[in-house]
Amino acid sequence: MEKVLLKNLGKPNSHKIDTYIQGGGYRAIQEALRHTPDTIIQMVKDSGLRGRGGAGFSTGLKWSFIPKDPTVPKFLCCNADEGEPGTFKDRGIIDNDPHLLLEGMMIASYAIGANTAYIYIRGEFAFGARRLEEAIKEAYERGYLGRNIFGSDFSLDIHVHRGWGAYICGEETALLESIEGYRGQPRIKPPFPAISGLYGKPTVINNVETLSCLPAIVLKGPKWFASIGPEKSPGPKIYCVSGHVKRPGLYELPMGTSARELIYEHCGGIRDDRRLKAVIPGGVSAPMLSADEVDTPLDFDSLAAKKSMLGSGAVIVMDETTCMVKVAYIILRFFSHESCGKCTPCREGTIWLTKILKRIEYGEGRTGDVELLESLCSNIFGRTFCPLGDGAVMALRGVLKHFRDEFVYHVENKRCMV
Ligand code: SF4
Repeated sequence: MEKVLLKNLGKPNSHKIDTYIQGGGYRAIQEALRHTPDTIIQMVKDSGLRGRGGAGFSTGLKWSFIPKDPTVPKFLCCNADEGEPGTFKDRGIIDNDPHLLLEGMMIASYAIGANTAYIYIRGEFAFGARRLEEAIKEAYERGYLGRNIFGSDFSLDIHVHRGWGAYICGEETALLESIEGYRGQPRIKPPFPAISGLYGKPTVINNVETLSCLPAIVLKGPKWFASIGPEKSPGPKIYCVSGHVKRPGLYELPMGTSARELIYEHCGGIRDDRRLKAVIPGGVSAPMLSADEVDTPLDFDSLAAKKSMLGSGAVIVMDETTCMVKVAYIILRFFSHESCGKCTPCREGTIWLTKILKRIEYGEGRTGDVELLESLCSNIFGRTFCPLGDGAVMALRGVLKHFRDEFVYHVENKRCMV
């Protein structure tokens, strides 16, 4: 498959505007400006593009919820928070090909009628934030941003907003709160951001990878995009592979590539040729797959059928030497640290789960602890304000589903099974 998202990765000066233009960059926005915004929205709907940030919602449909009234200001926010452990795809685009993202944002802003756009970038990505600032400056100098871009009636300003490293600010309404200068905590929905988003105005929030797909959709056409991968979740996908593989890294492949092909063909197999034990297919919130499920296609619907999810496309591979109690403890410790504290089941529940997992891991588990974990999960799931609490439970249930015997062994023998 021809690469479109990572095609410039590793090229010298790939972040500079001249390199981007030499590779055909900024042709897509000029093409988009020849069409009406509604045509662009229809094009994106026809392509079948689904959000790459985790939810997998139809991007064109999301845009179509924005009111058409030209007197109402609208905003586009690019979610570059990328806080899901194991995920590093957006950083790959931002650091190496920032103009691809900017061009995607221009197309999206034009389609929804936004004249102001923000890139909400994770605070730790200092290098990426500088790269974006430089790329935006280059674009303004060429007249690609600002008033009447490319001689059209359309004007656009893009601003970079750095976060402070809170995982919850990847949740779209917490992200909006953070841009507005408030504590990054989720808002109640409805109203959804398409009606009342940033500063109470209609707002679209799209992920970096989602926006970076747009130039190729405009230039190559929605049919081309829809022809890649499964019918219901088409297109190229960046998988970020980490853990016990020989060649971890970013891989742009057709959506729906199986975990087996990804691990054994592209990543060179398991380190030291050990046996595969489990795979987390979409960041730590996604319930893990066992080694028996390694032929599962990595796309939204196939993973949902396995009661897991594609999430951000962060594939974490674990070999036979991995202690699953330790994995669960590390994941829950992360969630309890990142809980924003707004609602009790998540704030208290993730701390309790972490404490119980810690004592099991350190050989101090008590009889009944595994049942206690399961009971706590039932009391948290579905009772939290935002998906963080559910994500923590889904991750733990995923481990328990496949490896409950390891937890029982830990409690009974005060040591690890592996
Ligand atoms: Fe905050 Fe957790 Fe409640 Fe989400 S579920 S609002 S992160 S306390």
